[in-house]
Amino acid sequence: MRPIQMVDTKTQYQKIKKETDEAVLQVMESSAFINGKPVHDFAANLSAYLGVKHTIPCANGTDALQIAMMALGLQPGDEVITPSFTYIATTEVIALLRLTPVFVEVDPRTFCIDPVALEKVITPKTRAIVPVHLYGQAAPMEEIMAIAQKHNLYVIEDNAQAIGCDYTFSNNTKRKTGTIGHIGATSFYPSKNLGAFGDGGAIFTHDDMLADKMKMIANHGQSKRYYHDVVGCNSRLDTLQAAILNIKLKHLDEYIVARRKAADFYDQAFAGHKILRTPHRAGYSHHVFHQYTLLIDGVDDPGAFRDGLNQFLAGHQIPSMIYYPVPGHRQQMFSQFNTTARDMPVTDWLTRRVISLPMHTELDEEQLAFIAGKVKEYAEN
Ligand SMILES: *Cc1c(COP(=O)(O)O)cnc(C)c1O
Repeated sequence: MRPIQMVDTKTQYQKIKKETDEAVLQVMESSAFINGKPVHDFAANLSAYLGVKHTIPCANGTDALQIAMMALGLQPGDEVITPSFTYIATTEVIALLRLTPVFVEVDPRTFCIDPVALEKVITPKTRAIVPVHLYGQAAPMEEIMAIAQKHNLYVIEDNAQAIGCDYTFSNNTKRKTGTIGHIGATSFYPSKNLGAFGDGGAIFTHDDMLADKMKMIANHGQSKRYYHDVVGCNSRLDTLQAAILNIKLKHLDEYIVARRKAADFYDQAFAGHKILRTPHRAGYSHHVFHQYTLLIDGVDDPGAFRDGLNQFLAGHQIPSMIYYPVPGHRQQMFSQFNTTARDMPVTDWLTRRVISLPMHTELDEEQLAFIAGKVKEYAEN
C-alpha cells in the first residue's frame, strides 16, 4: 500500500508534471515574474469558471479577506460577525483592522453560521458578516443574504475551503460559493482544493466600484503610477503561481469528483455507526470536501476518545487532524474584546468532537479501506 498522507500534493503533481513544468519554464524564460500574462489569464479563467465579473488575484487568502474589509470603508469599532469555529485568518484580519470581531454559533450539522444565532448577535454597530464555507460545504447563504439585506450589512464570503462548490437557491438557481455575497475571498495555499505551489489568493465581486477599489488597495492604494489615493498594501499573486494555477483550474472539477468519491467511501464505511457521525450533507449545497470530518458522539468523554483515536491512527501511520482545537472565542488574541466573552456551547461542543481523516484527490480504495478499518477497530474496542 502507498503511504497515507493527510494531503498528497506530490502524486497530484506527478499527473500534471509535463504541462506544469512547461508553464513554469515559460515564465522563467519570459522573466515576467510580477504581473505577467498568466496572472491576467488566470483571473479571467477563474472569473469564467465561477461566473463572477471580477477576480482580483492577491498574495494569500488572509490578504484577500483583509483587502475585502479595507474596501468596505469600515471604521474602528464597527462590528463584524463571523463564526468562532473557523481558521484564525478569518477572525484575525477583523482585529488587525481595529474592527470588533463578534463571534456567532454554527449549526452543529454543517459547521457553518446558524442564521437564527446570527440575527441575535446583530447590534446597531454591526456592519458586516463573514460566513465561512467550512470544510468545503456552503453556509446557508440565502438566509444570510436575507438577514444582511434586512439590516443593511455587507457580506464577505470566506471561500478558502470551498472553491468550486455549487449553492442551490430555493428557486433552484445555482451559484458558485464566493460569488453570492458582496465580496468573496479565497486561498490557493497548497493544501486547498485549488492549491498553488506556494502562497496565493483571490478576491471576487460583481461590483465594478468595489473591484476598482480592491485592485487599488492591493497595489499600494495606487490609482496611477506613483499616485497613491488611499492607504493600501502590497499583495500580488506571483506569475509562476498563476501559471501553475491556470493548469490546475482545468482539473478542479475532476479533483472535486475524486474528493467526493473518497467521501462516499468513508460515508458507506461508517454508515449507521453508533459513535462515528459522518458529515451531514445540506440540501442547498454541493460538498467539495476540503476536509472529511467525523463527529464523535455517544461516548462519555468525546475529547479523550477523539484524542485517543488520533494517537491510535498515528500508530498505524494514518495521519488525522483536529480542525480546530481552539475556537476563536477562546484564543488569547481576542481576550481584549468583551464581545467574545459570550458562551458558545455549540462551538465548544463541536471543538471536543471533530476529527478530520485524510482527504485528497489521490486516495485509492486500498488506502481508504485501511483507514476506515482502523477507525472502526478503535471505535469498537
Ligand atoms: C486557508 C484559509 C484562510 C487563509 O488562507 P491563507 O492563504 O493561508 O492566508 C482563510 N480562511 C480559511 C477558512 C482558510 O481555510
